[in-house]
Amino acid sequence: MTTETAPETRSFEADVAKLLHLMVHSVYSDKDVFLRELISNAADACEKLRYEGLSNPALLGEDGQPRIAVTLDADNRQLIIDDNGIGMSEAEMAEALGTIARSGTKAFMEKIAGAKEAEGSQLIGQFGVGFYSAFMVADHVDVTSRRAGADSAATWSSDGLGTYTIAPADLADAPARGTRVRLHLKEEATAYTQRAMVERTIKAQSGHVPVPIFLKETPDAEPSQIADGAALWTKPKADVTAEEYQDFYRGVAGQFDDPAFTLHYRAEGLHEYTVLAFVPETRPFDLFDPDRAGRMKLYVRRVFITDEAQLLPRYMRFVRGLVDSNDLPLNVSREMIQESPVLAAIQKGVANRILSELDKLSSSDTDRYLKIWDNFGAVLKEGLYEDFTRRDALLGLARFKTTTSAGNWRSLKDYVASLRDNQTAIYYATGPDLDRLASSPQLEGFRARGIEVLLLTDQVDSFWVTGGVDYDGKPFKSVTQGLSDLSLVPLLEGEESAPAASDAVNGFVEFVKATLGDAVSDVRTSERLTESAVCLVAPDHGMDRQLEKLLAGAGRLDAGAKPVLEINPRHALIAKLAEADDGDAALREDAAHLLFDEARIADGELPVDPRAFSARLTRLLDRGLRSAVG
Ligand code: ADP
Ligand code: MG
Repeated sequence: MTTETAPETRSFEADVAKLLHLMVHSVYSDKDVFLRELISNAADACEKLRYEGLSNPALLGEDGQPRIAVTLDADNRQLIIDDNGIGMSEAEMAEALGTIARSGTKAFMEKIAGAKEAEGSQLIGQFGVGFYSAFMVADHVDVTSRRAGADSAATWSSDGLGTYTIAPADLADAPARGTRVRLHLKEEATAYTQRAMVERTIKAQSGHVPVPIFLKETPDAEPSQIADGAALWTKPKADVTAEEYQDFYRGVAGQFDDPAFTLHYRAEGLHEYTVLAFVPETRPFDLFDPDRAGRMKLYVRRVFITDEAQLLPRYMRFVRGLVDSNDLPLNVSREMIQESPVLAAIQKGVANRILSELDKLSSSDTDRYLKIWDNFGAVLKEGLYEDFTRRDALLGLARFKTTTSAGNWRSLKDYVASLRDNQTAIYYATGPDLDRLASSPQLEGFRARGIEVLLLTDQVDSFWVTGGVDYDGKPFKSVTQGLSDLSLVPLLEGEESAPAASDAVNGFVEFVKATLGDAVSDVRTSERLTESAVCLVAPDHGMDRQLEKLLAGAGRLDAGAKPVLEINPRHALIAKLAEADDGDAALREDAAHLLFDEARIADGELPVDPRAFSARLTRLLDRGLRSAVG
């Protein structure tokens, strides 16, 4: 039974309705992005057909040339975008244009949830959000589509206000193949029926899509070509302007900033391929989205194959662009391509080249390089434990803030060049906050000896740094880990060396140990401390304290190893406590607990028992006041 009567009305998925509401009420001034989005969809559809046509040439029929046509109809205030690409069946239309499928749109919705209206419109420009952006300029949109090879067509139609209709379309009015998107423009969007405006916008935003674009000034006018569909990457580098690269980058990367770094080259020899890769200037929103591991597109002799070939290692997922291979077979399935040794060779070559180009950049244009590192260093460092073969290259690229760098980035080469006498390790401290890290008591002894300490604040740092890495034969050592051989390195001039701990101090240390019992694995005097009274470190062969906290926080570790409490024998308070009358056991007991809690607080933790902590503190203050007042 067929129903050629009234079209069926359906509701949008809730998230789409929300998104549409935003589009319809958008106050965003740069509405041009809708053209970029619709043309990119048309180009994608042509590329999908080109690919499916490889194994099924019948789909292409007589009409093998992909084409996008933009038609202006000022009389009816319409803008029409036609493509002869893969098209959509009725069911595909309902799915593609009624639900939120792609991760970018989801991420956009999550961001927008907390944003104010005005910020929302900024975000639209940033994300594009695809097809639905048409409703920024149109109060009604019709999409008529005929899937390649199908003998029926359908029309999707909506005013963007919560529902859409879908119905079979008359073949006589439908494209022979592909999709026609007809925008009934809002009054204030009449400018999009003017040739100069539309042509300029398309050339600027979409001049480098790999499908030729034609413009018709009126529905009956002759089409004229406004973009040639030539693949930019096949042109010699010398013929491509910075502007062309930038336009292309925005299209291929779905980013709306400028590339911070562009790499365009042709590999010859055993394998022939062309690479056009970009490092974005800003962090893409999906950098840490596990679904979007790689964003390099794979082409074979200019035919788009897939953007899921994992062309680069995960830790290079911020790189956008494409590789066009001459040697991969065109008629191989996407799944088979993944297994291909040719692909493996390309992967290796491209990843190595990108790293070596970044290394060159680090000396030829240091500022630019440091910006890249600032944005993506945390991602690249994942490679330090994921990719043993490129570890040295990555360590060479790595930059660090340190205790002596005054907020600037330092390389390990710099670090090693300024080692102190007898210093045999590269010291680091890890923690989420740079300022707090820089002032942690564990660093005092290092500072007194002029030893530079890397301040590591990225989550990933706790992982690679404990993976047995070394640089230039020097192991990485945490300042909170075990004994730190500090006494071998001479103190800076003007720093006093610690006197041997007196019997009284040793006695006090024993007392604290007995008092704290199981809460710590040891209590001992410290070489690390010069100003603070106490600090916590990991047991001699224990895990770095920061990593331990991370793992425990992620539920991947039951209970951490008990820390070691180190006590500064030179500290006036400790000396006094050590001399305190043995009879005053209650005071010394309170002090032992408070010292432990103080060390925990300096490490960003809570006192063991906040209530007991306040009671002890109150008792001590009370006592102090009474003796002060007399
Ligand atoms: P995206 O392009 O990122 O997938 P869009 O919102 O732009 O998101 O488009 C949603 C989906 O609608 C596309 O994935 C595609 O399946 C379908 N679509 C949109 N325009 C066309 C078109 N011109 N031809 C074929 N399919 C299209
Ligand atoms: Mg799209």
